[in-house]
Amino acid sequence: MKYIADFHVHSKYSRATSPEMSPEGLWRWSQLKGIKVVGTGDFTHPLWIDELQKKLEPAAAGLFSLKKKFRADTVPKSCKADISFILSAEISCIYRKNDKTRKVHCIVIAPAFDDALRINKRLSTIGNLSADGRPILGLDAKGLLKIVMEESPEALLIPAHIWTPHFSVFGAASGFDSLEECFDELTPHIHALETGLSSDPAMNWRLSSLDTLTLISNSDAHSPRKLGREANILDAEISYASILSALKTGRGFSGTIEFYPEEGKYHADGHRACGVCLSPEETIRHNYLCPVCGRKVTVGVLHRVAKLADRDDGFRPKGAPSYRSIIPLEEIIAETRKVGVNSKAVENVYTKLLDDLGNEFRILLEVPVEDIERSGFPQVAEAVSRMRANRISIAPGYDGEFGRIKIFEEVKRKEVKGQEPLF
Ligand SMILES: [Zn+2]
Ligand SMILES: [Zn+2]
Repeated sequence: MKYIADFHVHSKYSRATSPEMSPEGLWRWSQLKGIKVVGTGDFTHPLWIDELQKKLEPAAAGLFSLKKKFRADTVPKSCKADISFILSAEISCIYRKNDKTRKVHCIVIAPAFDDALRINKRLSTIGNLSADGRPILGLDAKGLLKIVMEESPEALLIPAHIWTPHFSVFGAASGFDSLEECFDELTPHIHALETGLSSDPAMNWRLSSLDTLTLISNSDAHSPRKLGREANILDAEISYASILSALKTGRGFSGTIEFYPEEGKYHADGHRACGVCLSPEETIRHNYLCPVCGRKVTVGVLHRVAKLADRDDGFRPKGAPSYRSIIPLEEIIAETRKVGVNSKAVENVYTKLLDDLGNEFRILLEVPVEDIERSGFPQVAEAVSRMRANRISIAPGYDGEFGRIKIFEEVKRKEVKGQEPLF
């Protein structure tokens, strides 16, 4: 059975998150989005794991569901579905290695509360797990991998948003040039990588060293509306063992749903304070210095990928899973109405569309455009049709500034091999 999974999210106990990032909120919004398996996020946080233990109960092997008494009747009939939770967390490792300060974020998934609690116990001797849902530890990423493997053989560590300049394994500012440099002899225990919002699989296909790894995508959501802005499609049983096997071997892993990488906030190079956005070529011409203030620019993901790549743009490894780029439905509606994405008008249209047509992923990927039109929103139908054909334009994001989508500007994005229907 094909289903959508989002493993990397944050709870209300992480910094700058919505109070709706509760078990109930994740349960409700996963249904609205069309996600079947959702990460709990933040299992390292003592209060959050307490709440999870109180509100969740075992479902399919190694996964959990929300206890009935916590399920409010707030999901439209058209979207109702069973939701499974998988225990997940993100840890920020800050440490020195090979004479440089390294900052590497890693996701961990675990098969049971006992396993998560054992990992937490070890980590709590290194730093304060209560300080943030995504704890910052003075721990080598390789040391974290070792702890995870020792405490739970069935757990999996996945380097997070691997290209982000400041906090990732390949980041331009504080990362490494290869997985081996980070994980040494433990590198074979890394089976999957999260490509992050600012890169898509096609960009990662340029590195032959990543061919054997499963390239996954998650929302890293801090509020429920952002759930599934990137996600994974699995064609497997809904169980922890099947998910683990799909992530480790790629078998049963059908592909990903992607943000347009240009929309990601670290795609291009630049300097946010000066409003300067540069292509990699321009950055090199300016000697990596901001043409306005003269300080060093933040080197984005596109540039960093090109630097480490050993293949030309456009190469697709044999058997690489497919992917689709999407624009979140609320952004599409906002663009058609020329209003802010958080406005009431957007919410009204969003609610009506979901009531009529089903969950958001169905609307973005599957529902015939004519049905969207018939629902009373011809402009949304037109926008979805343009998105499905990649006929949109995007001013790229840089140095922490999100890119800006323009759906109704007639620019065809460069053709990308590997974008096929996922369902
Ligand atoms: Zn992170
Ligand atoms: Zn500047």
